[in-house]
Amino acid sequence: MTHVAAAYAVSKMGSDDQRSQYIEKMADGRFLSTIAITEPVSGATASAIQTRAENNAGTWKLNGSKTFITMASDADLFILMARSGSEKPAFTDFILKADDHGLSRSASLKGSGMPGIGWGELFLENVEVGDDRVLGKRDEGIKIIPTIAKVFTIGSASISLGIMDALNADVLEHIKERKISGSALASFQTVQDRYLHMYANQQAASSLIYRASMNEDVKIAYAAKVFATEKAIENAVTASRLFGANGYERSVGIASYMDDALAVPLHFINNDILTGLFMNAV
Ligand SMILES: Cc1cc2nc3c(=O)[nH]c(=O)nc-3n(C[C@H](O)[C@H](O)[C@H](O)COP(=O)(O)OP(=O)(O)OC[C@H]3O[C@@H](n4cnc5c(N)ncnc54)[C@H](O)[C@@H]3O)c2cc1C
Repeated sequence: MTHVAAAYAVSKMGSDDQRSQYIEKMADGRFLSTIAITEPVSGATASAIQTRAENNAGTWKLNGSKTFITMASDADLFILMARSGSEKPAFTDFILKADDHGLSRSASLKGSGMPGIGWGELFLENVEVGDDRVLGKRDEGIKIIPTIAKVFTIGSASISLGIMDALNADVLEHIKERKISGSALASFQTVQDRYLHMYANQQAASSLIYRASMNEDVKIAYAAKVFATEKAIENAVTASRLFGANGYERSVGIASYMDDALAVPLHFINNDILTGLFMNAV
């Protein structure tokens, strides 16, 4: 998802040269890419970033750090936002390469879930690039947020839908197979009611994501992200109850779904920030 959002940013904001240089390789996977906005101090508030980009006769010098970056340890390209204005707040986006001199990355951070995403930190120490690496217009880099918001929110919602799909399938199998005194769990009305709610959450999220994908209106994508990410957590809680102590047993896997589901509301755009953007769009 992050890679798709990065490719989308280049396709929408990039110059002809940048599109021809990067898009095909991003599309076929030769260039794995990610978005690097979050910093230790700024957290969920993009406009609070501290990484600086200073321009001197067409050469940019970048200094700062980024954290919680998906695929930090694996990406070839970083779409990175830096503070570029000296007096009034202004931001510029850059296309950085993993082998740019002065760019380094940490060993991966360890999230509670999503073990496969190579999550980590970036450090920029006097990284020098030319104007050809500026993505979009100088000092207008904050526009990357509305540009990628729809792709990102639908992507996050879809991750949560995938978690629900897996959870619901596991729960259905479990409540049909687990028998107590000869009766399957699925024969108990309370269990049926719980599973019905899990199913309704999954179906509603799927429909909302589909509508968001087919519709220009970004509000639906925002609603889909908040709904799907919260319902995935709800379904993980219900699944844990229906699996009983087995659900709490790490090797069974229900606890891992919960760990995965908890990450997605935090994903760009953080659900609690999204509410403000949603109200602006209403
Ligand atoms: C799995 C994962 C992958 C990520 N991948 C990337 C990535 O590829 N690139 C990237 O740039 N970032 C990435 N992030 C970072 C993510 O965008 C941030 O974690 C998120 O924006 C929140 O920042 P923070 O964790 O520092 O929380 P903080 O800023 O400390 O905020 C903590 C909580 O406080 C609340 N809060 C904070 N500010 C506000 C506000 N203004 N209004 C209302 N509530 C608020 C929210 O509930 C928020 O979750 C990733 C995070 C996770 C968990």
